Amino acid sequence: ASRKIAFVGLGIMGKPMAVNLVKAGHHVTGFDLSQASIDTVVAAGGHGAASIADAVKDAEVVITMVPADPHVEAVILGEGGVLENVGAGTLVIDMSSITPQTSIKVGKAAREKGVRTLDAPVSGGEAGAIEAVLSIMVGGEAADFAEAKPLFDALGTTVVHVGPDGAGQTVKAANQLIVAVNIQVLAEAVVFLENAGVDLAAALDVLGGGLAGSTVLNRKKANMLNREFAPGFRIDLHHKDMGIVTDAARAVGAALPVGAVVAQLVASARANGDGPLDHSALLRGVERLSGR
Ligand code: NAD
Repeated sequence: ASRKIAFVGLGIMGKPMAVNLVKAGHHVTGFDLSQASIDTVVAAGGHGAASIADAVKDAEVVITMVPADPHVEAVILGEGGVLENVGAGTLVIDMSSITPQTSIKVGKAAREKGVRTLDAPVSGGEAGAIEAVLSIMVGGEAADFAEAKPLFDALGTTVVHVGPDGAGQTVKAANQLIVAVNIQVLAEAVVFLENAGVDLAAALDVLGGGLAGSTVLNRKKANMLNREFAPGFRIDLHHKDMGIVTDAARAVGAALPVGAVVAQLVASARANGDGPLDHSALLRGVERLSGR
C-alpha cells in the first residue's frame, strides 16, 4: 500500500533512498538544508517541503537520515523538530548511524507522545542505496518492524530485526568496526604489493577469488587502483563510528585491540586532512607510514 512518508536528510544516502521510496509508489515529501537535494527528490516524482514541520505534517511515517547524534537530536527532539509536529501513532524511523543511547533516548521521548520509533541504520554505501540493496539492521518493537518492512524492502535486500531500541545501532557499530579494519588491511596489502613491484590489478583480481576476497575488496578496489577518493563514505563519518563502537564496547567489557589501533589510524587520517575523502583513502595513511 502507498504510504505518506516524510524524509529528512537527503545527502549521499538519503537522496537515493527517498527516490527509491518514490519508485516503490509511496508519497514522499523530502526536506534537507540543501535545496538542491530537495529538488532532486521532486524531479524524481516526490514532493518538497520548506521545513521539518512542513514535511511531517500529514506523514504516517517519518524517516531521518542525517550525519550524527547532534543532528538526530535536533531534527527529532529539537525545537521545530519531528516530535513537536507529528500526531500520536506516527512511526519515526531513524536510519542514521548514531550511538545506541541516543536511539534509546529518542524512543523514550517519542513514546511519551504516543509516537513509535525504530532505529534502522544501514550498510552498503552509496552504491547500495542507489541499487536498493542495502543491509538494514533494525531495533525496536516487532510490530513496528513488521509495519515498516515493506518500506525497508524498497531500500534493501537484507532486512533484519535485531532487538529492542538501540540494537540496530549496536549491530551497525560492529559493522563499522569490521569495515574499517578490512579497509586498513587492504590498504596495507596494496602498499606492500606495489613496493614489491607486483602488478596491483592482477594481484587484486586473484586475491578477490580466494579467502581474502570480500565485499570491501570488490567495492574499494577501483578506488585504491586509481587513487580515486571522492566519497562515498567520508572518513569524518567513519571517525564518528569508531568512537561509537569504542565507547559501546567499553561499556560492555569487550576488548577491541585491533579496532582500537584502526580507530587511531582513522583519527590520524582526519588529522592529515583526509576527513572529507572516502574511507578507502586510509590508503594515504599507509603510504605516509611507508615513507611515500
Ligand atoms: P551526508 O552528509 O551526505 O548527508 C546528510 C544530510 O543531512 C545532508 O544533506 C545534510 O544537509 C542533512 N542535514 C543535516 N542536518 C539537517 C537538518 N537539521 N535538517 C535537514 N537536513 C539536515 O551523509 P551520508 O553519507 O548520507 O550519511 C548519513 C548517515 O548515514 C550518517 O549517519 C552515516 O554514518 C550513515 N551511513 C552512510 C553511508 C555512506 O556510505 N555514505 C553508508 C551507511 C550509513
